[in-house]
Amino acid sequence: MGISQMGLLRSSCSALCHGPRAASVLRPSAVLTRQISMDTQNLVARLNSSGLLRSQCLIGGKWTEAYDGKTIPVHNPATGDVLVNVPCMGGQETNDAISVAYEAFLSWSKLTAAERSKRLRKWYDLLMANKEELGQIITLEQGKPLKEAIGEVNYGAAFIEFSAEEAKRIYGDIIPSPLADRRLLVLKQPVGVVGAITPWNFPLAMITRKVGPALACGCTVVIKPSELTPLTALAAAELALQAGIPPGAVNVVFGNAPEIGDALLASRQVRKITFTGSTAVGKKLMAGAAQTVKKVSLELGGNAPCIIFDDADLEVAVRGALGTKFRNSGQTCVCANRILVQEGIYEKFAIAFSQAVQSMQVGEGFTEGVVQGPLINEAAVQKVESFVKDAVSKGAKVLLGGKRHSLGMTFYEPTVIGDIKNEMLIARNEVFGPVAPLLRFKTEEEAIRIANDTDAGLAAYVFTENVQRMWRVSEALEYGLVGVNEGLVSTEVAPFGGVKESGLGREGSKYGMDEFLEMKYVCLGNMSSS
Ligand code: ADP
Repeated sequence: MGISQMGLLRSSCSALCHGPRAASVLRPSAVLTRQISMDTQNLVARLNSSGLLRSQCLIGGKWTEAYDGKTIPVHNPATGDVLVNVPCMGGQETNDAISVAYEAFLSWSKLTAAERSKRLRKWYDLLMANKEELGQIITLEQGKPLKEAIGEVNYGAAFIEFSAEEAKRIYGDIIPSPLADRRLLVLKQPVGVVGAITPWNFPLAMITRKVGPALACGCTVVIKPSELTPLTALAAAELALQAGIPPGAVNVVFGNAPEIGDALLASRQVRKITFTGSTAVGKKLMAGAAQTVKKVSLELGGNAPCIIFDDADLEVAVRGALGTKFRNSGQTCVCANRILVQEGIYEKFAIAFSQAVQSMQVGEGFTEGVVQGPLINEAAVQKVESFVKDAVSKGAKVLLGGKRHSLGMTFYEPTVIGDIKNEMLIARNEVFGPVAPLLRFKTEEEAIRIANDTDAGLAAYVFTENVQRMWRVSEALEYGLVGVNEGLVSTEVAPFGGVKESGLGREGSKYGMDEFLEMKYVCLGNMSSS
């Protein structure tokens, strides 16, 4: 890609496809923006010369434009700059990506586990060797602070390392036969071509935790990253090629999401859909997958309760709640969405927590000391605003923040709101922003009832020093993950996933491998020894 293809300009373009690639035009902008744009421009030029900033999709090992030449811009959410224009693909390109993935499956699945493992390990090494650059790409297109972005690279790469190790441990089974002349075997075999659809909040990790185990099991993949953050996916795919993962084993297409989704769902060659994103889209994909009865894993929205009991260690609770609420500016599906605080500790917690939140520095992700970046786009800010307005109109009290940040763009003030009721919009739906709603409760039973009063069931958090209560409450919570005295629980070695409408299946750990495997029972007859 040449620098001439990059449109380093402020723009209000929507994420709709544009006509065939045109030369970029620099528009006048405010002084602050021009300053950031110059920095961005230098950074983009450096990344471009590293070879990691790709601006085409990947099909069968070839960097490819949309067949009709249409493009979409990728923005820096902190500045509005258009970083680069990328292809806007649809059904045709997706069908071709599926075909090459199928071809590649026939050979990739025949490699020994040791050989697949070696290449995955090489991919991991390359991801780690390029973590600064990958972190910069994440910050540029997603907005999270650079330190957090590099943390995502470490976390995301760990799924590839774990998959490289686990590739060698995909054991079958031998079952004692009820008949003397039979031998009963269970083989684990790769499911086939996988369609992996991922969101913008973790542009690398949501991909690696699907693609790592898929490749380890012998599957090949067509990745559909979010159109808001496709550059990290392309950089990771470039490194996969460099690692010797063969052309066609990893493909990346994006553009018209419903059309790409429909092509993946309709294909008889795609045998598995793995998705992270909204519950609404997840339900559509689940219904669509029924056409060809594909395997489905879904990691959907949460509505995480974070329960602080009177007997919690205040400092641990504040630190834990802060970590789970404000990570990625509140834009994760495991972020605490409702902070339930027992009445005896409510006032003390509200004061200490608000003080901690007040000290968080908001700004552009490349600025030293910044821990809160912008929200992903204007729609995200408007959603936060509407939830806050609804809560305040129903009697909630803003303890801190509560409005857009003076930095403008999509920056929102880290916010704490007290006197929330479980009926308010903000307690029923994921706010997906830097707003911490505090709900007061009296008893353990009441806390459990409120916590479980939702269709979601992804993550929950409990803060208490009482060992019996830790067990009791952890068992009673209808959630796939529970953090006890800990706000950050995700790791590649543990199973991640939800219950109820938060999804199906697990990612990470030995359990996550099964999502990409079929079990085959083989009965050997006529095996008598005499
Ligand atoms: P979010 O609100 O987090 O963006 P979405 O569910 O809208 O969640 O998006 C998650 C991923 O799903 C993105 O890659 C998006 O482009 C994709 N997506 C959205 N709609 C569809 C669809 N109809 N079919 C397939 N993928 C879709």
